[in-house]
Amino acid sequence: MVTSGNGKYFSSLSSRLYKGIDFVPVRELADLLEARTYYNDLAKKIVVYLGNHKVKVTALNPFIMIDNAFFQMPISTDFDENGIWVPLNYFIDLISVYSPIPISYNTDTHTLSLVKERVNILAVNVEEKVNGTLIRIATLRKFDLPNLAVRLSQGWMYVDIYGGRIDSTRLRSNRSVGIIRKLVPIQFEESAQLSFHLKKPVEKEDISISSSSNEILVSVRTSKKIPDNMIIDLEQERKKWLIDKIIIDPGHGGKDPGTIGYGRLKEKDVVLDVGKRLKKLLQKKLHVDVLMTRDSDRFVELRERSAFANRNGGKLFVSIHANAVKNNYSRSAKGVETYCLGLARTESDRAIAEKENSVIKYEDSWSETYANFSDENYILLAMAQNSFNQESHELAAAVQKELPRALNTKNRGVKQSNLIVLIGTSMPKILVEVGFISNPSEAKKLRTKKYRQKVAEKIFAGIKTFKESSERAVLGSLNGSR
Ligand SMILES: [Zn+2]
Repeated sequence: MVTSGNGKYFSSLSSRLYKGIDFVPVRELADLLEARTYYNDLAKKIVVYLGNHKVKVTALNPFIMIDNAFFQMPISTDFDENGIWVPLNYFIDLISVYSPIPISYNTDTHTLSLVKERVNILAVNVEEKVNGTLIRIATLRKFDLPNLAVRLSQGWMYVDIYGGRIDSTRLRSNRSVGIIRKLVPIQFEESAQLSFHLKKPVEKEDISISSSSNEILVSVRTSKKIPDNMIIDLEQERKKWLIDKIIIDPGHGGKDPGTIGYGRLKEKDVVLDVGKRLKKLLQKKLHVDVLMTRDSDRFVELRERSAFANRNGGKLFVSIHANAVKNNYSRSAKGVETYCLGLARTESDRAIAEKENSVIKYEDSWSETYANFSDENYILLAMAQNSFNQESHELAAAVQKELPRALNTKNRGVKQSNLIVLIGTSMPKILVEVGFISNPSEAKKLRTKKYRQKVAEKIFAGIKTFKESSERAVLGSLNGSR
């Protein structure tokens, strides 16, 4: 039996004891914590919006994702028709620091304690400003944005505060200020609603909401004039998203030849030349800054490649490599493929990581630096800490769409693998394998300037497509907010 105490108020949660550990349904626990949830029935995952934090729980899985980090519980979650069940003590250990409502669990007495405030919304003040009306809602704690909602309907603006508790008689007001005619507050079971009667219609996009530890601000813009300093901010925001600096990373170099293919063709030479050609195209046709991790036959450590990209503020990272198979029976293997960072799904994806990561044997003191790199959790963590996974896949798809047909070779697709050179790079990043130099006919082609130029042109075309579509998306949304 799990009980929760809240001063004089006690309620019990469904619970079951398994191996001496209390399990409870996530959804019931979330209700108690006044946290919104989103349940994905197909993936059997539930997201709990705890304050400003996202807690993701998966059925029959010991991993909990909080924001972008993974945490592992000693035992897995359970699952039945009540949804996902969590081992209460481990789960509370993980989430208690994120919960806006103080919570703790006593394993001996099987008691969950939480402290809910009687009233946490103290006052509402409306101020008239040059551009519109500002509503300041004084609070006892921070209400994070996922717990706040604004709706417009029939001349009213409703501000819903999930977990909000008010003294509705005290907040009610007929004072008319700015665009607000009067305020009607209503306490619901799980949320407080502040209903503002408006003097004239407003647009949804003219309303913005923000919150701090002791205040929720709702601004309603009625004048379209934007102060100059805000326009400067938008310009800066635009610049941040522009893809104006591209890092090209020709693989291997110096004492590391990469793979050695048919007729002793070396990977390091092919990819350097393709990289230089790509640089010229990008500079000439897209007018962007292009930096290369190496522009001569020299050795560069893997971690220095990603560090170089980050240090120089790169907006895209394109690593160029060529493929090879070891045994003579597979001479017929051919084609192009583009890799993103991820867990290898097939044996050949794993082989790529082995091949491209093997560079580290040339590096000094590599064993400490890369001790963990092959660990699956390490890769998951590296991916979770980086928000460019989606963009990287889009970039990879754009490049992969161009290459095979133009080169008249096999389309091996967009793949993922645990490639060290992509791990620390914080921008959209891909690794392109431009062909098999172990294949006699592909090696012969990759020896020629004409074919290398074509490879560079097609990588260029993919980058161009990606740049245009991603800038259009970002600039479009920024323009919309003007
Ligand atoms: Zn390589």
